[in-house]
Amino acid sequence: MDTKVINVQADFPILNQQVNDERLVYLDNAATAQKPLVVTESLDKFYHTDNANVHRGVHTLAERATAAYEAARSKVKNFINANEAAEVIFTKGTTDGLNMLASTYGEQNIHEGDEIVISIMEHHSNLIPWQQLAIRKHATLKYIGLTAEGELDLVDAAAKITNRTKIVSIAHASNVMGTINPIKELANLAHEVGAIIIVDGAQAIPHIAVDVQKLDVDFYAFSGHKMMGPTGIGVLYGKHELLDQMNPYQFGGEMIDFVYQQKSTWTQLPWKFEAGTQNIAGAIGLGTAVDYLTDIGMESVAQHEQQIVDYLLPKLVADDAIEVYGPKNPQKHSGVIAFNLKGIHPHDLATALDMEGVAVRAGHHCAQPLMEYLGVVATARASFYLYNTKEDVDSFLNALTETKEFFN
Ligand code: PLP
Repeated sequence: MDTKVINVQADFPILNQQVNDERLVYLDNAATAQKPLVVTESLDKFYHTDNANVHRGVHTLAERATAAYEAARSKVKNFINANEAAEVIFTKGTTDGLNMLASTYGEQNIHEGDEIVISIMEHHSNLIPWQQLAIRKHATLKYIGLTAEGELDLVDAAAKITNRTKIVSIAHASNVMGTINPIKELANLAHEVGAIIIVDGAQAIPHIAVDVQKLDVDFYAFSGHKMMGPTGIGVLYGKHELLDQMNPYQFGGEMIDFVYQQKSTWTQLPWKFEAGTQNIAGAIGLGTAVDYLTDIGMESVAQHEQQIVDYLLPKLVADDAIEVYGPKNPQKHSGVIAFNLKGIHPHDLATALDMEGVAVRAGHHCAQPLMEYLGVVATARASFYLYNTKEDVDSFLNALTETKEFFN
């Protein structure tokens, strides 16, 4: 495994603890990632030495806080290869960014009879905002299905995306099945019919290199906390010309140019979409997480996780007692693996694994339509990140074996 990645454990003191008298093996990274010391130290530094509101003051602390906040934006811009920093809007997270799009771009551009296309593997955050918009506007919400291998069905996508489609909104990587979706192909399909493409990048950006210009996406939303930044901060990337045409999402301080008694005008991008005092420390912490990932290199992160999947997935697939959901080919799989132990409720499985120190998630993973499509109520889910080791995978496999024996 990549040495740059394998030596990072010391950066994550939280991992160095016992849970239920066993070594903690944290495999719930799709829910949230642990934070390296540099990220928590950058929050401390901000609050201990630079804390002030941004853009408002001329005093030294205000200038330092503003410089650090805007530097974080530039780091994100470089990380995703946006054309300009003004295309990077700080949000509360993926959910916030997608809701903002439904309430702004969607509200302005969706009319009766229009179609919005998503996929059946979407997280509720990339489903309910469009469902509710479609209800409000008397538009139609369509779902792209899956192939037998658990991948997005591109033939179905080509059939569902029509001249009536105005928005295509798709996850870059599934938070359940570990599928990585062909965003560039979907962007082409959307653009051919004059629709825009929005990408829910929550499960991709922490794990693979993302270049929004190469992908040719119109919007890309993600959360800081899944990429080792703080909670409560996220990013909505949007193409300048589209953001420019959109009405503000919220109104108040920071986002105005001039306010008269009966009307107001808006300031320029990106601040037009950042009303009120923002999560300044969160943005700075996210900037530090971006530095951390950049230093390691996203290629190394992806390669490390691929090695984990190459080692683990075939073992799970070969086990008759285990049902794996999503692609069975490790090369087509991210480090998110949904599975069930036949005859055991996933919540019981997750509790049993916790007794062995192994933290996994169990439930519907905020993807109830997908659960219905797969014909299950819930699954267990193990999800890996750059600090997980082969030893973690072996502990997980041993804990699974012990659980099977206990329930038999
Ligand atoms: N989209 C996907 C694919 C996710 O996995 C998640 C979180 O698990 C979200 C959206 C929502 O992210 P957040 O809760 O940070 O807004």
